[in-house]
Amino acid sequence: MTTTDNDTPLDFIRATIVKDLETSKYGGKVQTRFPPEPNGYLHIGHAKSICLNFGVANEFNGVCNLRFDDTNPSKEEIEYVQSIEEDVRWLGFDWDDRLYFASDYFERLYDFAVQLIKIGRAYVCDLSADEIRAHRGTLTEPGTESPYRQRSVEENLDLFARMRAGEFEDGSRVLRAKIDMASPNLLMRDPVMFRILHATHHRTGDEWCIYPMYDFAHGLSDSIEGVTHSLCTLEFENNRPLYDWFLDQLAVYHPQQIEFARLNLTHTVLSKRKLRKLVEQGYVNGWDDPRMPTLSGLRRRGYTPEAIRNFCDRIGVAKTNSVVEIDLLEHFVRQDLNLRAPRVMAVLNPLRVVIDNYPEDQVEELDARNNPEDAGTGSRKIPFSRVLYVERDDFLEEPPKKWFRLAPGREVRLKHAYYITCTRVVKDENTGEVIELHCTYDPETRGGSSPDGRKVRGTLHWVSAAHALDAEVRLYDRLFASPNPDDVEEGADFVANLNPNSVNILKSGKVEPSLAGALPGMRYQFLRKGYFCVDPDSSEGALVFNRTVSLRDSWAKIKRGLNKGQGK
Ligand code: ATP
Ligand code: MG
Repeated sequence: MTTTDNDTPLDFIRATIVKDLETSKYGGKVQTRFPPEPNGYLHIGHAKSICLNFGVANEFNGVCNLRFDDTNPSKEEIEYVQSIEEDVRWLGFDWDDRLYFASDYFERLYDFAVQLIKIGRAYVCDLSADEIRAHRGTLTEPGTESPYRQRSVEENLDLFARMRAGEFEDGSRVLRAKIDMASPNLLMRDPVMFRILHATHHRTGDEWCIYPMYDFAHGLSDSIEGVTHSLCTLEFENNRPLYDWFLDQLAVYHPQQIEFARLNLTHTVLSKRKLRKLVEQGYVNGWDDPRMPTLSGLRRRGYTPEAIRNFCDRIGVAKTNSVVEIDLLEHFVRQDLNLRAPRVMAVLNPLRVVIDNYPEDQVEELDARNNPEDAGTGSRKIPFSRVLYVERDDFLEEPPKKWFRLAPGREVRLKHAYYITCTRVVKDENTGEVIELHCTYDPETRGGSSPDGRKVRGTLHWVSAAHALDAEVRLYDRLFASPNPDDVEEGADFVANLNPNSVNILKSGKVEPSLAGALPGMRYQFLRKGYFCVDPDSSEGALVFNRTVSLRDSWAKIKRGLNKGQGK
């Protein structure tokens, strides 16, 4: 097997490219393209394709074009074009001046079609879409030839020109390739090349009322641009003979199509059609809802481009479809954020604590390290005072034996601060709810250790009540409860598998004062609570945080378990 310098085996695509470079198949050139259809926002599956196409180009000193496959005016919008450009850039890739649109080639594609008519390889067909389908045959039966298949070149040229001129209704005629109605490959049974569609295109306006089909437009766009390796997902394997047929018939420059397995993720749908349904029917709050697997959603959630790229590297490319655990993606997010996210203290569900023996007007500035993973990030000061907040679920009135957090009479460490002991519990007279704890602190334990060597098992995060900033904290869970959202009862669709508790909004969070001025996109680790990112809804007086991921790495745990099982 071919290997790189460091002896990791190359995937089959890179191995093919190495071979093509050795044989100088394309004159030593490597050129790829990422060809999104601008009919939705990019998702994590597209990231796999982007990393592959741009990655391969970078590795082999080639280039990668960004080409919008905008041949379907009815579903496409300029908003999508802009979001796609933003997302590709955010992921860390650059197309320089190679931004292309299939719609820029409409005139040339029209000319190519005319050429095919002239050599007797395309004809205008008056059958309706339903009739064409009925004539197509099945996997076991050949199709039936269209009654219009034998039209003369002259008649075809005339009708095609009139299709373009707008003389005919939508759906009344199409231009079809004349290939083989008995081909075992259904896609080769005289596929449609152009259809009539009186629709305004986001770039060409009303200039055209006929639009080319994907299979015709795609290979020729690759050819026009000089693409060498046209990488696409496996479901296009059956389209490859057609891709080749058009290029061969027209005798133009011929790139090669190579298929790889698309990314599937557990608990996730990766289809723009389905994602659009979630947006349009209000199941989520837009394409960039932090629960969405779109790049804009993941960005808003706090994912980093580095984490996504590392994930894509790790999953690699293969020739067979598989499903990747979403825990693996989250693992890469944690791994990256662990290195870069400053640690801060935030209390999500606050419970008031009064330190009875702490002087009323005193405030101490305590040292807190910003990131133990990165000594260069230094430390900051955090205020400590008589009234604090701790996490409500860090207190239990009647704790089990192995409870190491707060409870009546129990001592705990406050991170970066002191040991405190709970002495009294105040409850709401009517509801019985615990509303305040009274504690004493040990002045000898400043910084969180005791000179007498006394040990406490629990360390809690906290904030000083007088200094804390209010924050809204949005906790996210999986958008789909089921690992396979498409696995539904008959008659239902994937929406039935939505997790009804995919978001939990906490309105009364309290965060340490160093977070004043935190801007949208900034990422933090809230001690003991996970990684969080400032949401664009946030403002100076009203901070809003999204939880990116919790701290528990289920992927690392699964892996440890596996290794143990194998006796490693
Ligand atoms: P969707 O099914 O989400 O609409 P698509 O394939 O129609 O996806 P395009 O905009 O045509 O979306 O895709 C642009 C490129 O991204 C194509 O080359 C496509 O093969 C690739 N791509 C799309 N989804 C995935 C995926 N899940 N994994 C890998 N590549 C993908
Ligand atoms: Mg597509």
